[in-house]
Amino acid sequence: MRQVFDGHNDALSRLWGAGGDPVARFRRAEGQVNAPGARAGGFAGGFFALFSPERRAAFDFAAFRGDAGAMPPPNPIAQGPALASVMAQVGIARQLHEAGLLVLCTTVAQIEAAMGRGQVAALLHLEGAECLDGDLLVLDALYASGLRSLGPVWSRPTLWGEGVPFAYGRDGDTGPGLTADGRRLVARCAALGMVVDTSHLNAKGFWDIAEMGVPLVATHSNAWDLCATTRNLTRAQLKTIGETGGMVGLNYAAMFLSPEGWSTGRARVDDCLRQLDAMIDVAGEDHVGLGSDFDGAPMPEGLGSVAALPNLIAAMERQGFGAVLIDKICRENWLALLGRTLHG
Ligand code: ZN
Repeated sequence: MRQVFDGHNDALSRLWGAGGDPVARFRRAEGQVNAPGARAGGFAGGFFALFSPERRAAFDFAAFRGDAGAMPPPNPIAQGPALASVMAQVGIARQLHEAGLLVLCTTVAQIEAAMGRGQVAALLHLEGAECLDGDLLVLDALYASGLRSLGPVWSRPTLWGEGVPFAYGRDGDTGPGLTADGRRLVARCAALGMVVDTSHLNAKGFWDIAEMGVPLVATHSNAWDLCATTRNLTRAQLKTIGETGGMVGLNYAAMFLSPEGWSTGRARVDDCLRQLDAMIDVAGEDHVGLGSDFDGAPMPEGLGSVAALPNLIAAMERQGFGAVLIDKICRENWLALLGRTLHG
């Protein structure tokens, strides 16, 4: 079975929101990312996000469904509660690691070794840096805990810059760019050898990072030309991702795949293929991977969890993608990006 290394999932925040024993939950076929599903579908690892929700609760998929306009902008969140939720999710990741359900990795060699043993390789990613202090001391603490990827913002205003509100019919140019603190944060991440993620960041922030000479990465975003939401990327952005040696990961979330997906919350695997074609066309075939958003969004029919990944791969084959291209999309391009970025 073909192995998938994926750019974004929200399993850790799902498990934290659900409460109880995260190890027992992950052993069951519960949610969209879990141990039996990973075995069945060839989910071999990926970026595991640490995320601070406003409330500790299971993610509310219903909030997106059938919404034809803009969602109300999420509220800012204070550092203290953000840090509490992020550290709890680091603890969940450690417990899953101790239980042998995933392997926390900080290098490509560790990722390849874990995948070779048939274990799930996890790279810790911070989705929105509200938990960090302005002196970046917490960043070093999280780095020591294995954090190797960071998106300065989720879809809300922060000390570092502004995320896009969830809206349709406009692009991501929704507010000011990175703050001076945000530039310091990005520079520090680059110096540490961390991935800097621009998914959820507005357009001005994206272009600010482009000027800083780091590979542009959008772990879970799609082509705006096919689905005109603030969360997706214009042709100019996709082109620059390719030119800087960066990566974009296909987001399977129904509302980011197509206009119908946005308005109905429903999509099909074919919509994923249209997006892949469009992104490869502009960014290039070495700069596109998968970025499922499993456990963070409503999924297309036929792609409801990691167990269904073979359906996506079969659709790539039907589309005429060759074996080399499918391997690049499913894992090689992400591993190459990590090889260009991570130290050690
Ligand atoms: Zn996200």
